[in-house]
Amino acid sequence: MALSIASSCVNCWACMDVCPSNAIYQSEAAGHFSISSKKCTECDGDYAQPQCASICPIEDTIFDAAGISINPPGTLTGIPPEKFDEAMREIQAR
Ligand code: SF4
Ligand code: SF4
Repeated sequence: MALSIASSCVNCWACMDVCPSNAIYQSEAAGHFSISSKKCTECDGDYAQPQCASICPIEDTIFDAAGISINPPGTLTGIPPEKFDEAMREIQAR
């Protein structure tokens, strides 16, 4: 099983240094960082949480093999997505 990085990746390099399996690389073809499915261990045996998803500054960018986001909206801010949308609507209505 391996995680994957979506196109929302901003190439910040943060995940590369924390990966215990050296599974993360710059993909010129993709235009952003990618995860080697052969090397990624999902951090099993090294950390309780996938380190790439823990450090990634862009929510909704790291996905599991089933396509489920590991760092979904609200992960960094702690604001539930519906609350965030509500606040944005209120701000835009001013
Ligand atoms: S889940 Fe762990 S092993 Fe896999 S790419 Fe992320 S940091 Fe590396
Ligand atoms: S930490 Fe997130 S945004 Fe930064 S390079 Fe890795 S996947 Fe891309």
